[in-house]
Amino acid sequence: MRRPANQRERTIVELAARLADDFALRAAEHDRDGTFPFENYDLMRDCGYLRLTVPEEFGGMGASLYELMLAQERLAMGDAATALAVNMHLTPIGQWAGIWRITRNPAIEDVLRRAGENTLVWAGFTSEPGVENVIMGAKTRATRAPGGYIVDGYKVFCTNIEVATDFTVSVQHDDPVHGPELLLLKVSRDSPGLRPVRNWDVAGMRSTQSGDLEIKSLFVPEHNVVHRQPIGQYNETIARTILCWGVSSFGAVYSGIGAGAIEWARQQVARRNRQTDPAVRQLFAEMEVLLETGRAVAYRHAQEVREEQIFEQLTIQEVMARSALAKMVPVNNTIAIMQKIIDAVGSAAFQRKQPFERMLRDAHAGPFMPFSNLAAYRLFAANVFGEELAPTGPALDLDEARAAAARAVGSSR
Ligand SMILES: Cc1cc2nc3c(=O)[nH]c(=O)nc-3n(C[C@H](O)[C@H](O)[C@H](O)COP(=O)(O)OP(=O)(O)OC[C@H]3O[C@@H](n4cnc5c(N)ncnc54)[C@H](O)[C@@H]3O)c2cc1C
Repeated sequence: MRRPANQRERTIVELAARLADDFALRAAEHDRDGTFPFENYDLMRDCGYLRLTVPEEFGGMGASLYELMLAQERLAMGDAATALAVNMHLTPIGQWAGIWRITRNPAIEDVLRRAGENTLVWAGFTSEPGVENVIMGAKTRATRAPGGYIVDGYKVFCTNIEVATDFTVSVQHDDPVHGPELLLLKVSRDSPGLRPVRNWDVAGMRSTQSGDLEIKSLFVPEHNVVHRQPIGQYNETIARTILCWGVSSFGAVYSGIGAGAIEWARQQVARRNRQTDPAVRQLFAEMEVLLETGRAVAYRHAQEVREEQIFEQLTIQEVMARSALAKMVPVNNTIAIMQKIIDAVGSAAFQRKQPFERMLRDAHAGPFMPFSNLAAYRLFAANVFGEELAPTGPALDLDEARAAAARAVGSSR
């Protein structure tokens, strides 16, 4: 279904389309061999796609969450694994940009400037064995050291570890005064104490190469603490950034898989002259409803985030549920689309030489990415029954954040 778009949106989507069509030529090979698509990153760097969410002041395109979703959906139509991988760079940069627009924080400004100069690729490592990835706790430990922290632990699902120059890791620090706290630390990839474990051998999203990372005696200076909160609490900053942007933009990648698969199925059906069969037409109509419903939920979320109403009118737990919904509906609808394509197309959908079987496997990584369907159901049910699943930390004081940044700018002069 074609949607109205202004010139700027058309330009962004056309850029993504050019990349997607090129990446699609190599996607099967990277998927088969489980190789990271380094050359795709070179191309994305050269054409400015890596700067999609960097503010225009720093040489980027300043994309909003909605524009990011449009672009990422189109990119995923050609190569979902590259789209998912680059999402781990584009969304944090977009999140940093949002915080920077409020606070003008100089440390964030440095990140955005480097991203604008193409010298920074970001990643975020919060997943750990046996820890639900909802940014409320970590097994990786930080202990106090002169001028900062020493970190030891083990992260899993480290997308972009092959290309990232910098990343965040979540850690627990047992503060003697404030008690156990969750810290997000900014780490440079070339820091001593990091050992990537190249063990990513999974059914789908294979070329993301999201292997493990062993962290031993890593020193992180105090000024690289980018977030701090008590363990086990919901937090407004996390909701505004990682959840509202990161989680919902995963949905766009999975919508892209659905849209790409429908386009492939349309060609297959046309080749077999099946498009006049009423049963096949019914299936395509149902797929269209699923795809558009997923998009509608995601786009509503993007609009609400931009207009800030959800932060003013909903609880943080409700905001989290909105982010979960914006990811869950596109993901689950894409999986439903896949079954309909098998019905409509027949055995071609089962052939390894066809791109559909890769799309089918890639799509099935969606339901357990955060918020997993299970985690989302827990949130929705708790909101229905008016229950708090966890305490929520104090609301973000935007005026104080601005004042703190102004003080930091003053003291750095
Ligand atoms: C393609 C892809 C890319 C991803 N990229 C990132 C990323 O860049 N950064 C990031 O932080 N996360 C990333 N994730 C992870 C994601 O955020 C979720 O954490 C993950 O999908 C949750 O998987 P799960 O349902 O197995 O969770 P869980 O059940 O919470 O398990 C998480 C991990 O711990 C293991 N595990 C579970 N219980 C135990 C136990 N008792 N003892 C030992 N091991 C245990 C599981 O096998 C799994 O590897 C990615 C996921 C996918 C599919």
